[in-house]
Amino acid sequence: MTATPTRPDAGAPAGLAAPPAGVPAIQLAGLTKRYGAVTAVDGLSLTIAPGEVVALLGPNGAGKSTTIDMILGLSRPDVGTVAIYGRPPQDAIRNGAVGAMLQSNGLLPDLTVGETLALMASFYTRPRPVRQVMERAGIADLARKRVGSLSGGQQQRVRFAVALVADPSLIILDEPTTGLDAQARRAFWASMREETARGRTVLFATHYLDEADAYADRIVLLRSGRVVADGSAAQVKAVASGRTIRATLPGADAAALAALPGVDSVDIHGDTIVLTCRDSDAALRKLLAGTAARDIEVTAQNLEDAFLALTVGETP
Ligand code: ADP
Repeated sequence: MTATPTRPDAGAPAGLAAPPAGVPAIQLAGLTKRYGAVTAVDGLSLTIAPGEVVALLGPNGAGKSTTIDMILGLSRPDVGTVAIYGRPPQDAIRNGAVGAMLQSNGLLPDLTVGETLALMASFYTRPRPVRQVMERAGIADLARKRVGSLSGGQQQRVRFAVALVADPSLIILDEPTTGLDAQARRAFWASMREETARGRTVLFATHYLDEADAYADRIVLLRSGRVVADGSAAQVKAVASGRTIRATLPGADAAALAALPGVDSVDIHGDTIVLTCRDSDAALRKLLAGTAARDIEVTAQNLEDAFLALTVGETP
């Protein structure tokens, strides 16, 4: 399953040099990262077009942060390559094309919010006005407060403002709403919508299915460092709720099995048939009525386990 970009206004935001036409915003090819015996990211390939808003969805430990760290050039893949607008990540980051909000972005506690953003803005040749960025992140009234005196949720918003200050065309967010209450989550996503309406590309990691569903055009479901589904929210949910029917059926007719109601795909190995189904009840009824299938087993696909492990938070 693949998704096509659906944003009509895909491209560079106003005021930014357009990224090269036809070049993906992010291209990952065969990324693998191991930590000792743990394979955190396992042969991950992914192409994200300019203007797409993509959720990297997966339970804790799925490899989301490791993937983001490699995209940002903060850690090196053992195998595989990362390109941002066709270039190594460091190039894109240096020229302000990428804004990132990481869980662990170091903020200096003794600076005020205003000083923090002014300092970040000074690193770029064409930053956004600091006041505008603070308003976007909902922290204009905190400008004179010391960062160290802010709540966790307020510091998250400062991190978001830091991600925006370079006026990036690509925004990468690692679990941006962790630690925020429901109201703050809603406010955060309302701000993000304003940003994405300007045609920015966004990749955000989350373990909230509802957040991915509500805010992404496309969901990439990660599990154990691998992409297990990639498509629109509806497509990914359909895959995740499917079942597999396995049975013994000598001389099975693949085309007839594929035509059964509720069947998505058919595999035949000797006398064993494996049907991947979106509606296993309907498929099973016809299978029993119309064939000599025996030793029938119906199992949830592994994806369902992945979804069970996901936290379903409040829909903002
Ligand atoms: P996620 O962001 O989806 O929660 P991570 O990318 O943080 O997942 O982690 C993926 C896997 O890699 C986990 O098993 C985690 O324990 C392991 N891992 C991540 N970073 C390190 C590290 N620096 N050292 C050892 N293991 C790590």
